[in-house]
Amino acid sequence: MRRLDTIVSLCKRRGFIFPSSEIYGGLGAAYDYGPLGVELKQNVRDSWWKAMVYRHDNITGVDASILMHSGVWKASGHVDAFHDPLIDDRQSKRRYKADQLIEGHIERLRTKGRNTRADQVHERLIAALYAENLPAALHAIIMDEEIRSPDSGAFDWTDVRQFNLMFETHAGALKEASSTIYLRPETAQGIFVNFHNAKETARLKVPFGIAQVGKAFRNEIVARQFIFRMREFEQMEMQYFVRPGTQMEAYEEWRGRRLQWHVNNGIKPSRLRWHVHEKPAHYADAAVDIQYKFPIGWQEVEGIHSRTDYDLSRHEEYSGKKMEYFDPQTKERFIPYVVETSAGLDRTILMLLCEAYTEEMVKGQRRVVLRFDPAIAPIKAAVFPLVRKHGMPEVARAIADDIASTWNVFYDDRGSIGKRYRRMDEAGTPLCITVDGQTLEDGSVTIRDRDTLAQERIPKNNVFAYIADGLHK
Ligand code: ATP
Repeated sequence: MRRLDTIVSLCKRRGFIFPSSEIYGGLGAAYDYGPLGVELKQNVRDSWWKAMVYRHDNITGVDASILMHSGVWKASGHVDAFHDPLIDDRQSKRRYKADQLIEGHIERLRTKGRNTRADQVHERLIAALYAENLPAALHAIIMDEEIRSPDSGAFDWTDVRQFNLMFETHAGALKEASSTIYLRPETAQGIFVNFHNAKETARLKVPFGIAQVGKAFRNEIVARQFIFRMREFEQMEMQYFVRPGTQMEAYEEWRGRRLQWHVNNGIKPSRLRWHVHEKPAHYADAAVDIQYKFPIGWQEVEGIHSRTDYDLSRHEEYSGKKMEYFDPQTKERFIPYVVETSAGLDRTILMLLCEAYTEEMVKGQRRVVLRFDPAIAPIKAAVFPLVRKHGMPEVARAIADDIASTWNVFYDDRGSIGKRYRRMDEAGTPLCITVDGQTLEDGSVTIRDRDTLAQERIPKNNVFAYIADGLHK
């Protein structure tokens, strides 16, 4: 497995991802997507949207605003309870999530075969998560277990403190308490407040889903893992509204579908695993994460949560508006239960980059290649004239224009053909099409496959169908 640094440097070099505001020295935990990154992101977003919205006739989409009435966040519980328990290493001045330090300690005990001890600490962690004074309970475990700082190795901790992760701002000219609003920390609430609007206009009947992709903001204190943990990031969320009592069925069903989506995008099943929450969030009766084996260890990419009727009930209570569903067949009224699937778009991108990154030796030369599934590859095909003369550029341009009507294509006539191939390998482009002398004679071109390096000649008129074929495999 590659180190994260290797991925970060490729992303910068090839134009996938740059630090935000780089000419000013960057801004912590904020990143910009470059020419290749924006294409990759768009393709992953589309893949999600198609899998969720287009392939289910009972799921519809919304695009809610980022700024919402502050009552939303009081109702959702975020104003009171969207905290992280944090602890500082006094020596390195680094800040850690206290519960994650303990989880790391438990994993290390298990790797050393000390399973009974690991189970004991695990039980204590669960008790701490439910304790009245959670910071003190977590602190006590760190002290008793003598958990050391992962970076400095020191055992010199501050107390554990709770930090609210929401970004606060003010609407309008006056900066007073009544004007306080928040940048949304999750997209889900934009769906809940549009429950009636979407249901009525799309004429949906339970079970049905509302999907949304959009930005979310969290003032993450521990943020030093590239796009894994950002302060501004994108979520792909779907809330599935079901009849109370049927939520576990829906929960199981969505677990399966969501895992399969990641596999369909090219992630090896052996690098994915389930992680059941020790203490589901305040709103959930069951919660599980899909974790991926990142270079920084097993980490969450998506959560599947059974959120009960918590959110809709709270909005009913706080807004004074009924949040019920009326079943025209049974004439019953009820507040639906909700199963949520919540994936981070940026984390999915990081996972796909880690999975795709390959280094290999080809004829004594090191080759870096991103083996993206063609459907998500930023560039679907590159077209090269072998030389910039004899009418080859014109033929190559015409082929590129034809492809461009449907897919992102890259035309390149500069540098040696070998260099052009290598650049496309690093961009993860599945196919390179070369126009050469023979093309001018018989209308055939060479197609080079990124993964096998095999080259074959096909009629130039078949190029479009060839690319389409690769996308539908
Ligand atoms: P974590 O425990 O890693 O902070 P979380 O459990 O708070 O994540 P959720 O609230 O369940 O995350 O959010 C759903 C998804 O949104 C996560 O699985 C992740 O992919 C993504 N996500 C959450 N926080 C961030 C962040 N700061 N940067 C990038 N993606 C994030």
